[in-house]
Amino acid sequence: VAATAYVFSYDLEDPDLCLRAAPVLAELHRRHEIPATFFIVGTVIEERGDDLRDVFGDDPLFDLQSHTYSHRLLKDHARLGDGISLDELRIEIARGRELVEETFGRPCPGVRSGFGFFEGLRGEPDRLRTIRDSGASFLSSDLQGPGDTIPGRLEQPYRYADDGVPELLELPGHGWHDNVLKERRPGLTPEEEVEVQREWIDRALDLGLDYFAPVYHPHSIYRQSEDCRTIELLMRHVEEVGLRVTTYEQLWRRYDADLD
Ligand SMILES: [Zn+2]
Repeated sequence: VAATAYVFSYDLEDPDLCLRAAPVLAELHRRHEIPATFFIVGTVIEERGDDLRDVFGDDPLFDLQSHTYSHRLLKDHARLGDGISLDELRIEIARGRELVEETFGRPCPGVRSGFGFFEGLRGEPDRLRTIRDSGASFLSSDLQGPGDTIPGRLEQPYRYADDGVPELLELPGHGWHDNVLKERRPGLTPEEEVEVQREWIDRALDLGLDYFAPVYHPHSIYRQSEDCRTIELLMRHVEEVGLRVTTYEQLWRRYDADLD
């Protein structure tokens, strides 16, 4: 078994299309007995909480975390514009986490930012303190390459110790955001997409990265193919290569234990 683990992670942010994809994805993960992390936007939970509960229930196969309350920019972004205020940031983190906890009856230690940034929230001590004080234990915001571009880098997890917030762990996402890859290559088939991901997986293995977690969006997977075949093909590849599959929650627990 390779040292590098694989993470199936999904940013669930469209109240219509993501909700059509979610049952298909959940069924695939259950059939293959492969765990997955879903980062869910708070406003989608407000709108579709009952349906989401029907899909995920309290199945431990699914790690459910927050994708912020309403998907706003947690800091200035080089291409997309200005970040929100600290007061607004508090709501994005605290309310987003609360909705996951209330709806699914389980703790929500993690938040994935909308869009993501090069080097996450490094150099933003006020924002990092606000995020920590709003109850987040890990952040997944390092999702872009230099100049806040996509694809993201292959980066290991880190703590925001240099910014005075060592309690907060960053767990990056890697490589393509699948929606952007599909935009750049119109007509991309699931088979071609998996070829692209295989190259990234090989690179992650060569680097000895702790884990490889490409950024996937249910709406975009579903738009490409309603049977979400890309994910099943990825599952088969991960099984063939013999990669261990983990979740963000499990990664957070592991690094937290390492710190003690
Ligand atoms: Zn998003």
